[in-house]
Amino acid sequence: RRPARPHRDLVSTRTDCCYYSAEPSVRVMQWNILAQALGEGKDGFVRCPSDALDWQERKYLILEEILTHRPDIVCLQEVDHYHDTFLPILGSLGYQGSFLAKPRSPCLDVAPNNGPDGCALFYTRARFSPMATDHLRLSATMLPTNQVAIVQTLCCRATGRQLCVAVTHLKARSGWERLRSAQGADLLHRLRTITCRAATCTVDSDAPGGLSEDLPLVVCGDFNAEPSEDVYRRFLSSPLRLDSAYKLLSSDRQTEPAYTTWKIRPSGESRSTLDYIWYSHDSLSVETLLDIPSEEQIGPDRLPSYHYPSDHLSLLCDISFRERPHRLM
Ligand code: NDP
Ligand code: CA
Repeated sequence: RRPARPHRDLVSTRTDCCYYSAEPSVRVMQWNILAQALGEGKDGFVRCPSDALDWQERKYLILEEILTHRPDIVCLQEVDHYHDTFLPILGSLGYQGSFLAKPRSPCLDVAPNNGPDGCALFYTRARFSPMATDHLRLSATMLPTNQVAIVQTLCCRATGRQLCVAVTHLKARSGWERLRSAQGADLLHRLRTITCRAATCTVDSDAPGGLSEDLPLVVCGDFNAEPSEDVYRRFLSSPLRLDSAYKLLSSDRQTEPAYTTWKIRPSGESRSTLDYIWYSHDSLSVETLLDIPSEEQIGPDRLPSYHYPSDHLSLLCDISFRERPHRLM
């Protein structure tokens, strides 16, 4: 019998100086779940026991982690079991899903494989109604690339508030920093169009979401980029006025976590911060964050492991809408 998985605390990020809405917050999860074909066939996680990489083991840990927190919105990367696992199971539990495969997934180079990997986005049907779904293939300086994004515009059934959520997985590996930056620029550009379009098609509503101003936006992703990279700076300085939620976990509220992925390959150990939840800081505020496991909790063999089914950690936060007067200030 394996020891229980280490508990991760939900940490409040509230400060006395901010007003917090009485409306229930929206729980958002971001997670690169590690494509089954890549984990078994390509990654070379030399310190991970091979049975911990077995899909029949891993799928329960992934689903357990999602269902422990019951997020309203789930953004996943490296999904290569959408149709046979996540859609039927999460669909039966009240989630609506959408999947976009990479045009040429590296999973297809692995034998056997379960089809291409891609991004998936789920939201709870009880809470949200869909307004628009955009499936994007990211470009870099006009040329199509192998990376994708899903952009889902939602309307909160209870309040009429609208929210735009995006999930993406940018090009991996060192040497591709300029491509990631260009992909980020393309995504930001297209998000601007989508959030303006959605905002202007809702007029004459009494609901708070029916304002003709840009839609509140949440962008979840494995950016494959440390905070020192160009694409990170692009997101931070974009006209969409985004900020990164997990900075609020640090004592100065300005520093990203030390790691969101930590693994050992034949080439050595790699510990980096690559995953982010971006949010519109004028219209949204972050109320809680799921703590990052400590080095001791992760253990000497790092990720994945019997306790953590992916080499990336899940990120989770509760986001609330700021009141209208605050937005206009
Ligand atoms: P990426 O370079 O973005 O990476 C693909 C996956 O590899 C990611 O999920 C990434 O995980 C993982 N990865 C990152 N670093 C390593 C590593 N050191 N060892 C093993 N895996 C790693 O993929 P692309 O979309 O650019 O596709 C790359 C592959 O796809 C090529 O190898 C090629 O086989 C194929 N391809 C073929 C094309 C064709 O026309 N024939 C065109 C495009 C691609 P993470 O995000 O967690 O870091
Ligand atoms: Ca990976």
